[in-house]
Amino acid sequence: MTVPSSTPEAVPPVSEAAYAGGREPGADPREPLRSHDHAVSLSTGHAAADPLLDGLLRLAAAHFGVAAACVVPGEAPAVRGRDAGVDETVYEALRTLAHRTGESGAREPLIVPDISADPAWCNVLAHASKPLRFVAAWPLYGAQGEPVGSLCLIDPAPRELDAAARASLGDFARVAATLAARPTLATSRELDVPATVEAARYAELEALREQERLLAHAIEGSGTGIWDRDVVTGEIRYSVGWKAILGYSGHELTSRIEDSYGRLHPEDAEYVKAAMQAHFEGRTPTYEVEHRIRCKDGRYKWICSRGKVMSRDANGRALRMIGTTTDITSMREMAERLRESAALVTNLTNEVPGLVFQRRQVSGGRALFSYASAGIAEIFELAPEQAAHDPACIDALIHPDDRDAWRDSFEQSAANLTPWHLEFRVLLPQQGLRWRQGDARPQRLADGTTVWHGFITEATERKRIEAELQEFASTDGLTRLANRRHFMARVEAQLAQVRRGGASAAVMMCDLDHFKSINDRWGHAIGDDVLRHFAEILRTQLRAGDLAGRIGGEEFAILLAATDLEGAHSVAQRIQERFAAQPLAVVGDVVALTVSIGITLMNAADMSAEAALTRSDFALYRAKKGGRNRIECA
Ligand code: GH3
Ligand code: MG
Ligand code: MG
Repeated sequence: MTVPSSTPEAVPPVSEAAYAGGREPGADPREPLRSHDHAVSLSTGHAAADPLLDGLLRLAAAHFGVAAACVVPGEAPAVRGRDAGVDETVYEALRTLAHRTGESGAREPLIVPDISADPAWCNVLAHASKPLRFVAAWPLYGAQGEPVGSLCLIDPAPRELDAAARASLGDFARVAATLAARPTLATSRELDVPATVEAARYAELEALREQERLLAHAIEGSGTGIWDRDVVTGEIRYSVGWKAILGYSGHELTSRIEDSYGRLHPEDAEYVKAAMQAHFEGRTPTYEVEHRIRCKDGRYKWICSRGKVMSRDANGRALRMIGTTTDITSMREMAERLRESAALVTNLTNEVPGLVFQRRQVSGGRALFSYASAGIAEIFELAPEQAAHDPACIDALIHPDDRDAWRDSFEQSAANLTPWHLEFRVLLPQQGLRWRQGDARPQRLADGTTVWHGFITEATERKRIEAELQEFASTDGLTRLANRRHFMARVEAQLAQVRRGGASAAVMMCDLDHFKSINDRWGHAIGDDVLRHFAEILRTQLRAGDLAGRIGGEEFAILLAATDLEGAHSVAQRIQERFAAQPLAVVGDVVALTVSIGITLMNAADMSAEAALTRSDFALYRAKKGGRNRIECA
């Protein structure tokens, strides 16, 4: 043990200095001690040759006006050992005291104002060879927050420590812990370590320090600051980089946690404190929050604060917490700009009639509408989230007859990377059967996923108009049968099938007999009625795959699919019979009618639909020639 002073060698050990020299047993304990008697280090193996630690202890003793200050080692092996000069009984007493402090688990400062009046401690210290009335022991922690011992103040007179003095003792304790934890060359010297080993250790130490410096630079360089909070005393220390984030330099910030809370943005204070509390209570493995903090210039910055409690007492209460702070203002601004542009896209697409979408199909996987504008409510009667999460929900709304086309069209577009286009029907719970039109462009991502961007619009009205136009263009206005153009197109298509070896098909020409005289006798309007009447009879006599057309004034043609000559002949007979059996009723009379029919089979050798029609026309001519109301084949 040393009794440090400005010239340590000249000062006797504490037993003589503090007690024998300063106060004999029985002397007035309140009599001031000599200033150079104030400090004693019992601490570490290197304490004897550690002028910094010794100086600190002297300073502490002087500051508090006590007989001695010393560092008593705790559980950690790093500070095991003590100086030979210490008074054994005082040292043991302090050790017991420090040990009990540790045992209590609280690791809180222990202050015994008057040992003789305190039954808990008077026995422990009663055996000390020197009178000891006042003891204060402040726990010390190593770099990892582990307890390493206590900084003790001792005095032969009872005394109190007010709140300010306690806070100062805390400050001294932190510095003492830092000094005590340093490895020093003195340690080696005392242990008689050879000089080469010592040099190697020194180099290693220097390398470690260099690494530490680099690490500190790296952390600071990344715009990250570090803080270190003593939860017990409410003190918080900031790195230079931390202060720089807020625009402060050097000593401009206080180290009180209350001041730190005062810099929080009022809107964020509550959840920041809640997050901190949750971590203190062990409900979260780490503390991590993003919040705003007021800078020196009064403006707020966004920061991300992360931290972890490094040590807790036996009851789990947080003692020390270390953390980092990163300036995320520009990141937040960028995120805000991104949010704005995403909102712009959403707003724009929501205003576009119909559904604007992004569809993603992972190679071999199901497809999802990863983005859907608000129009999906009208187009599919769904919410965007439904389409994003349930790949089957849209498929289920596609009309069963169009489902294959829906799937195949996307597959084809993905395979060839060609634009997707489809007109399809949906069956919706509210709107029922509706037409939709979709258009999109595919892109292939690096991982093989195909992504389409496009839109689907309402097409029901257009399809209805189209259908109307189509009918208008293909039917005869008077009879609603196919017009000549449409009929000929169908015959042409049928001829192609026959050429491909399909089933035989027949073409029949019908010409009403003596129609001119009907017009002459009953008038043109009744003539029209007769034409409509005959069309109706045709409709009732034909199968779904057949087609009747009006190709001239009172000339009708019939295409009979999958029919041979015999079959066609019996159809012709039925038509004739019906027509004869159902004369058109007019006021007070009936219009009796007959029809002549010519039939031919379509031939693979026919050059065109006209060729087949001409042949049946020829058969019709023969039927007329033969006396009318006849059927002839060619
Ligand atoms: P045939 O037995 O030889 O066929 O004698 P036909 O009188 O039917 O012969 P023709 O082909 O000479 O006469 C057809 C008549 O059909 C001539 C025309 O006035 C009439 N006609 C043509 N189109 C219409 C029409 O849209 N409405 C009415 N009422 N008559 C029409
Ligand atoms: Mg005619
Ligand atoms: Mg005629």
